[in-house]
Amino acid sequence: MRVARTIAEARAFRAAAEGAVGLVPTMGGFHAGHIALLAAARAECDAVVVSLFVNPPQFGEEADLLAYPRDEEHDLAVAAEAGVDIAFCPAASEVYPAGFQTWVDVTELGSMLEGVHRPGHFRGVATVCLKLFNIIQPDLVYFGQKDAQQVEVIRRLLRDLDLEIDLHVLPTVRDADGLALSSRNALLTPDERRRALALPRALATKDPDRARTELDGLAVDYVEVAPFHPPVLAAAVRVGTVRLIDNVVLDEEEAHEHQAA
Ligand code: AMP
Repeated sequence: MRVARTIAEARAFRAAAEGAVGLVPTMGGFHAGHIALLAAARAECDAVVVSLFVNPPQFGEEADLLAYPRDEEHDLAVAAEAGVDIAFCPAASEVYPAGFQTWVDVTELGSMLEGVHRPGHFRGVATVCLKLFNIIQPDLVYFGQKDAQQVEVIRRLLRDLDLEIDLHVLPTVRDADGLALSSRNALLTPDERRRALALPRALATKDPDRARTELDGLAVDYVEVAPFHPPVLAAAVRVGTVRLIDNVVLDEEEAHEHQAA
């Protein structure tokens, strides 16, 4: 596995790759959810690129950015083990050089649900993803259903800006107790983790009213049916200092029933 730290290196490594190139954009902190994306890319592509970049503009509060779990050495070992060909690990100054001022805003999709609580988040996500797509020029990109709104934003971005990239979305990977894997789970105390289990329990009802009842006592940012492709029941809660998001896929009938209600 080759590690590129600059855009020039990443471009050079990519230019040498043959056949279908798959990109898995990540912020590191690898767990089985990331590994599932890497495995799918390895199975379906000739060359696999993973990016590890904790993207400052998609964080609202600096404390959240500073607390974000980072372990590059571990992540690179996991990526190599998963058969990744190229790991792109740029510094923030490489991605956002002095004078940077060009942003991509997926206006409507980026301002609902998560966007209400994290203004500017999806602008940061869309901008860094378009930059990664331009640098790596992948044929396929891999994202997790765990971040359903992010998937919908990327789907819209690819379509609106005429990018010829196939979007592959993989199911949410969960721990045995139902909690969706997330790099942020490492920040939960044992008691917070126990309380966080209300989130997957609530979503499993596939019913926003019942889900709200299950979440009683937690700080809930939203529980909503979202008109994505596929539709989902999505929720965000805060447990201690950690904010968790999760969703469950609905079929059209389930979504219609609860949107109409
Ligand atoms: P992150 O490093 O958190 O930005 O995530 C990188 C990619 O992994 C994104 O496409 C996420 O949606 C995906 N991902 C994160 N957690 C999970 C999970 N539990 N199951 C499946 N995919 C995930």
